[in-house]
Amino acid sequence: MEKKNKCELREKLRLYNSMTKQKEVLKPLVEGKIRLYVCGVTAYDFSHLGHARASVAFDVLYRYLLHLEYDVTYVRNFTDIDDKIIDRANAMRVDPLSLSDRFCRAYNEDMADLQCLPPNLQPRVSDHMEQIKAMIQQIIDNDIAYKVDGGDVFFSVDRSPNYGQFSRQDLDNHRAGERVAEDPRKLNQADFALWKAAKPGEPISWESPWGPGRPGWHIECSAMSAHHLSHKFDIHGGGIDLIFPHHENEIAQSRAACAEARISCWMHNGLFTINNQKMSKSDRNFIQIRYIPSVGCETLPDKCALSISS
Ligand SMILES: [Zn+2]
Repeated sequence: MEKKNKCELREKLRLYNSMTKQKEVLKPLVEGKIRLYVCGVTAYDFSHLGHARASVAFDVLYRYLLHLEYDVTYVRNFTDIDDKIIDRANAMRVDPLSLSDRFCRAYNEDMADLQCLPPNLQPRVSDHMEQIKAMIQQIIDNDIAYKVDGGDVFFSVDRSPNYGQFSRQDLDNHRAGERVAEDPRKLNQADFALWKAAKPGEPISWESPWGPGRPGWHIECSAMSAHHLSHKFDIHGGGIDLIFPHHENEIAQSRAACAEARISCWMHNGLFTINNQKMSKSDRNFIQIRYIPSVGCETLPDKCALSISS
């Protein structure tokens, strides 16, 4: 590409930033380089059209950045250990990491069928326990997280000055953490888990200064993005449903660990709906990518009203 033309196109590229709620010219933190992190899937089943939508949206961005001759580092994680993976592995009487490995590989097969380019890096939670534990310890040392009886570690939303601003949350009306019942050990019920103590009989856990357990969901992306892209990078992406709590919590954790942490542009794709509901594995309301006629071999189920929101 001619150099002048490339520079003009780069200066014209504007992205909608979910943080500022406006379109902004993309200005790389390092001249000529773009660091992009996109939240990936929780690998406990075959991926569906909602996952395809996210992958295709960021594939278009990735390809255009390459077209503009940016040196792009594209990172998309796999959540390879969490409650849903453990529940399914227990039901199937298999090892949780074997189960998630199978579906990580299936996801990459689906993405190849969709002709999405593979990211440069696809980090998995189970390979980053040291980085995750180090970040949790840093947040505890900074007095923004606390350990409770039983070995869980919670993030304190009350000690995080800007908590809720990104997603415009009213903490009186919303729970910031995960889908769990009220916990009297929490200082604020909106506090969320950074480390979950191993339950009796749980098939897998990792040693930590707080006892055996595994990370909460949100901390993995803060730790893995910081490890692979540093605390400051250009674009963090994901589905719009991740703005709260996942990305709100990521922002809070990353700043709690490192005051300098900053993402230039938060970018979110709209959702794929089916019968006016978000396509979701956990709601059993989905069509798998490998059942799309042009990709797989089957026809779509009848009576499905598919739509894409912007
Ligand atoms: Zn994430």
